[in-house]
Amino acid sequence: DEVPGPDGVSGDEITRLAERHLVQPWPVSGSIGAEARGRIDAGEGIYVTDAAGRRLIDGPAGMWCVNAGHRNRELAEVMAAQAMELSYNSPWYTTNVPSALLSARLAGHAPEGVDHVFYTTGGSSAVETALRFMQFSNNVKGRPEKKLIVSRQGGYHGSTYLAASLNGRPRDHDWMDSAGDLVVKLTCPDPFRRPEGTTVEAFCDFLVEEFRQMIEARGAERIGAFIAEPVMASGGVIVPPDDYLKRMRKLCRDNDILFIADEVVTAFGRLGHVFASQDVFGIDPDMITFAKGVTSGYFPLGGVMIAGRLFEELRRSNHSDAMFAHGLTYSSHPVGCAVALKNLDILEGGLLEHARAVSDHFQKSLKALEDLPLVGEVRGLGLMACVECVADRVSNNPLALDIEVGKRIDRHCQELGLLVRPLIHMCVMSPPLTITAAQIDDMAAILRKGIELTMDDLVREGVWK
Ligand code: PLP
Repeated sequence: DEVPGPDGVSGDEITRLAERHLVQPWPVSGSIGAEARGRIDAGEGIYVTDAAGRRLIDGPAGMWCVNAGHRNRELAEVMAAQAMELSYNSPWYTTNVPSALLSARLAGHAPEGVDHVFYTTGGSSAVETALRFMQFSNNVKGRPEKKLIVSRQGGYHGSTYLAASLNGRPRDHDWMDSAGDLVVKLTCPDPFRRPEGTTVEAFCDFLVEEFRQMIEARGAERIGAFIAEPVMASGGVIVPPDDYLKRMRKLCRDNDILFIADEVVTAFGRLGHVFASQDVFGIDPDMITFAKGVTSGYFPLGGVMIAGRLFEELRRSNHSDAMFAHGLTYSSHPVGCAVALKNLDILEGGLLEHARAVSDHFQKSLKALEDLPLVGEVRGLGLMACVECVADRVSNNPLALDIEVGKRIDRHCQELGLLVRPLIHMCVMSPPLTITAAQIDDMAAILRKGIELTMDDLVREGVWK
């Protein structure tokens, strides 16, 4: 019962074209290059419309990115206007107005002194830029051995080679190569999965001590950077213990290790502020990577905020001709930066305040799902949350992967009007920031029903009791 696609092409034909010619992200080899995923045709506010004409709440806001909501006329119009004014200029030898204006606006929101921006095309290229800048800086400063990068189990930083090498979810690496010798991984700061019988405070002490010992063992003179999402997003919305980030920041400062906050998800209102590092967690990173919500997903743009003092150090070095040989054709894209400026107007003009105002209701409504026996924990912060399912609440074991509980919940929820982001046994919710309290109630009610129906299925099939 699929409705036809645009231009009179039949729905079946679109599916066939996708299957024959389109390669989707993160495919499995059994269907790679031969897969058509559920078709989305339109969006409006917090809703998208699928190929059957059903209106669904966009639970994940696309990929944590449609912060201002779908079909925002102001964003669409500014994009068209900028494309007509100046659609492109080469950042190799010219500058445009929107990128200069946006840089100053972003510097105003970042921690003091983190006042420069290098623009990229998304999050992976932002992370890649931050890391290559660390490598370049240490080469220029005459310490080429200070290059190790510290990341965490459970983290996600992108799909380009070096950024992907930092990823800490086991399934990200099973079949992929990586620059593993450049990276060291620390324990995931997940309080829910802390060792049995340990308090959260003791767990935090352990995490910090692990980093301290690692620095001692490897040598501070060999470690260039520590990278962390303030709240791990794709790893399952992991909110670290109180003070964890501050204490990790201090260890970095004491050992001259650059602290990179990967705010690709947490920035631009997801946690109620333009950047969360200082405003939510009280830390001042040396670099902050961002993407996604910077344009509410309307244009592919990312970037890295860099502390000005890092440039001063380079300018004072003995190698004034050393080249940071790094740049993208679409760095400082005028259309992307114009959209980001308008998006900032929207955030500053009330959307940040709205996000802060509804986040408590959002968290409470989802937390209430913990009374369902399939749900082990609901956690989150701001407008990001995760419903984690478990086999039983004594062991808290994640359900066996082949039950695909997240996908099952998603399937039921789609029938009922909600798109969920299934992550194996977890459902991650991060709706457009425009969501109202009544829409949050709808979302939570559908999710509850979807989980109840999934429990019924699992019991009927004898795979869960
Ligand atoms: N960093 C984080 C924290 C992310 O969540 C993502 C994507 O989900 C990335 C980096 C990579 O961004 P992109 O997919 O835009 O390259």
